[in-house]
Amino acid sequence: MPEIDPEAPFPEIGDGTRPPLPDAVQAMAAEVGLELRAGLPAEALKPETQRRLTEWLDRGYAGGMDYLDRAKEALVDPKAWKPWAGTILLFALPYARGSVSFRNGGRVARYAAGRDYHNLLGKRLQRLGKRMRAGGLVTQFRAVTDAGPILEREWAVSGGLGFRGKNTLLIHPRLGPWQLLGEVLVDARWQTWRASATSVDCGTCDACLEICPTGAFPQPYLLDARRCLSYLSIEHRGSIPREHRRAFGDWVFGCDLCLEVCPFGSKSEDQSQLWGQHAALHLTLEEVLSLSKADFRRLFRGSPMQRPGWAGFLRNACIVLGNLQCGEGALRKALHHAEPLVRCHAAWALAELGSMTPLQSARKTESDPEVIREIDLALDR
Ligand code: SF4
Ligand code: SF4
Repeated sequence: MPEIDPEAPFPEIGDGTRPPLPDAVQAMAAEVGLELRAGLPAEALKPETQRRLTEWLDRGYAGGMDYLDRAKEALVDPKAWKPWAGTILLFALPYARGSVSFRNGGRVARYAAGRDYHNLLGKRLQRLGKRMRAGGLVTQFRAVTDAGPILEREWAVSGGLGFRGKNTLLIHPRLGPWQLLGEVLVDARWQTWRASATSVDCGTCDACLEICPTGAFPQPYLLDARRCLSYLSIEHRGSIPREHRRAFGDWVFGCDLCLEVCPFGSKSEDQSQLWGQHAALHLTLEEVLSLSKADFRRLFRGSPMQRPGWAGFLRNACIVLGNLQCGEGALRKALHHAEPLVRCHAAWALAELGSMTPLQSARKTESDPEVIREIDLALDR
């Protein structure tokens, strides 16, 4: 695919009238609570970026995120997804805030502590698209927040929204890694405009690489998602590899360690007013562990924490209770949970607590081969 020069001027289209200036879109964006950060031609990504993606997928670093491989063509060229795409508009919302936990422990990645950004940012992008369409600026648009086949970070780097950090995240010189990204693809072909480029980068800093508890960075700028707690606790379906369970520490949903150590953004303004705090965080992990599927859905409604699903979240809760050396009563009950996945991790956690008697009695009645294996491994310690 051809390498594009994002600075190259676009020919005017349609009836030959002057393309709308960024100011027109910027004003509409401000009306819906967004700041337009860049607008780039919706053309194929640079060959170097495409090569990096292919290599990352080929090495298996995406883990079970097979949808990335299936969407590869669209990921590297928005026109393969939306042939009418002319321009991609880039937006970001800051989300810096203090550390967030459940009531008695169990840390949560900060982006997930409040309102679901897919909703908050997604609705604003959608509103902007509708306004642009109503104002005759575009005829087709598609708003994207994380869920579409767009390599958000690559576009954000191209748009000058920050630089690529060694932790593979977008780093803004002032906001650090604490930004959530969103895009609107439009059919109009507008002039390129971008945030002022930054000349800073990671330099000699290696803090994120050093702090990662699972060694998820085979090298700087490269993430093996299969080892990353964010992937394992949120996207991974099924059992958590035993060798990574202790590395969870008290992270029950996601992990912010390689963001927290980043010197950029350490003085970012607190955004908790904007995002709020989800009511589910008032629960204890023991209470979470006793929730029915219906109650989990009800109490976690509107939160990104729903993503691993009921059994997946309870799996994480077992691991954290084991690591925190607490919740024995709740774990004993979880050893008889309807979901084998939860029983497996309750068995592991009880062994971490040194509570072997319930394991011995569960071994006599358990029929699921995976859970039996977990109990046997736990009793074998
Ligand atoms: S999120 Fe946590 S586990 Fe994943 S790479 Fe960063 S420090 Fe490592
Ligand atoms: S912690 Fe250091 S190396 Fe990692 S992204 Fe931030 S500046 Fe770069």
